[in-house]
Amino acid sequence: MLHRLIYYLGMLKRNPSLLEYYNFLKESDFWSLEKLQKYQLEKAKVFFQFVYEHSVFYRELFDQVGFNAQKITCVDDIKVLPIIDKNILLRENERIQSDYRFKKLFFSETSGTTGQVLKFYRNEEWESGHRAAMFRGYHWYGVKVWEKNGYFWGYNIDKKQKYKVAFLDFLQNRFRMFSYDKEELKRFIKRLRRAAYLEGYSSMIYETAKMVNQLPERKNDFKLKMVKGTSEKIYESYQEEIQKAFGLKMISEYGSTESGIIAYECPEGGHMHICMENVIVEEVNGEIVVTNLLSYSFPIIRYKLGDYVKLADKTFRCKCGREHSVILDILGRVGKCVKGYVQQYPSLMFYYVFKNIALTTSISLNYQAIQKEIGKVDLRIEQNQPEYQYILQRELDKYFKKDVDFKIVWGQTLHTWNGKLRDFISELD
Ligand SMILES: [Zn+2]
Repeated sequence: MLHRLIYYLGMLKRNPSLLEYYNFLKESDFWSLEKLQKYQLEKAKVFFQFVYEHSVFYRELFDQVGFNAQKITCVDDIKVLPIIDKNILLRENERIQSDYRFKKLFFSETSGTTGQVLKFYRNEEWESGHRAAMFRGYHWYGVKVWEKNGYFWGYNIDKKQKYKVAFLDFLQNRFRMFSYDKEELKRFIKRLRRAAYLEGYSSMIYETAKMVNQLPERKNDFKLKMVKGTSEKIYESYQEEIQKAFGLKMISEYGSTESGIIAYECPEGGHMHICMENVIVEEVNGEIVVTNLLSYSFPIIRYKLGDYVKLADKTFRCKCGREHSVILDILGRVGKCVKGYVQQYPSLMFYYVFKNIALTTSISLNYQAIQKEIGKVDLRIEQNQPEYQYILQRELDKYFKKDVDFKIVWGQTLHTWNGKLRDFISELD
C-alpha cells in the first residue's frame, strides 16, 4: 500500500500525463483494427503538422518531397519520406530538435555499437506514452508497477551514483545487484522469492535461473507473475531453465530510447503486439522502420532501428482478441558481417543456421561467434553436445559455403556478467 502511494506521488510529479494516457491505452486495448488505424491516422496528421512547423530539418525535407501533413489519407502516404538512420540523427541533431518551448523535457542519451553517443530531449507526453505502453504490457500479466521487482542491468555504477540509484530503486520497490559474485546472486534470489516480477537482460535472467535450478535448497516458491527479458536475444533454450526455475516463461518487450516501446509480447504467447497508438511500424527489405508519433521534441520519422524483423500478414488474428498488428520475430541486428576468404556474410546467417538445427533436431543451442581473422570464426557453444558437430558443420557450410573455417568448441561459459551478451563479436575493422 505504501509503495503504491509513493509510486503515485512520484509519478504525478515526474509524468503528469501518464495516468490519463495509461487509462486511454487500456481502453484502446481491444479496439478494432479499423478504429486503431483511424486513430493512428488522425494522430499522425497532428504530429506531422507540428513537426513541419517546429523542426527545420523536417520542414526542408517535407518541402523537398512535397509531403503535406494535412493531405495524408492513410499511413502509407508517409512512404514518400526518406528513411533515416542513427547517423542522420547524430549529424542533423540540432536541426531536428524542435524549436517549440515545451514545459517539461527529459534529457536522453543512447550509445550505439559505433560508440557515438546520441543526445536529445524527450517531451513529457513522449516519456509518459512510452511508460504507459510498458505498463499496459504489465497489466496483461496482472502486474502492478509498484509491486516488488528484481532488476538486471549493467552495473557500472560508481560509488557516488550507487546511493542515488539505491534510493530510486527503493521508490520503485525494486532491487538489483550492484556487482556480481555468487553470494550476492544468492541474496538476490532470496529477495526474488517475494517479488512479483523480474526484468532485465535476458542472458542474466537465464544465468540466474540456472543458479536457482542448481541450489540444493531448491523449492518452487516463487510468486513471479512476469519475467521480462529486454535488450538481448532470447534463445529458445533459455525458456526451459526459466520455466523450471520460476514456473513461467520469459516474455519480451521490444523498443528503444528513440522509438519508445514498439511492441509487447502477448500473454497468448509467441509474438508481440505493436503499440499502434504510439508508433507506425513498417518492414522495408526485412528491416524494421519506425515512426514515433509522440516524439514532438525530437521527431523520429521512418527511422531504421537496425533490426531484421518479421511482421505477421494482414490476415493474422491473435487468439487474445487484440487487433493490434503483430511482430512475429526479431531476427537479429543489421549490418554486422562475417568476413569469409572470398565474400562477406551478414551475421544474421547464424540465426538461420541455429533455427534450422532447432527445427530438424529439436535441440536449441546457445552460441557466440567471434571473428579475429578473415576467413576464421570461433564458434562457442554453451551446451556440451559434440555429437551435434556434424549437423552443425553441415548447416554452416550451407550458408557460408566453406568460405569460412569454423572452430567449434562445446561446453563453453558464454556469460561474463559484464553487461550485454553479444552473439557475434568481430574484432576486424
Ligand atoms: Zn494477442
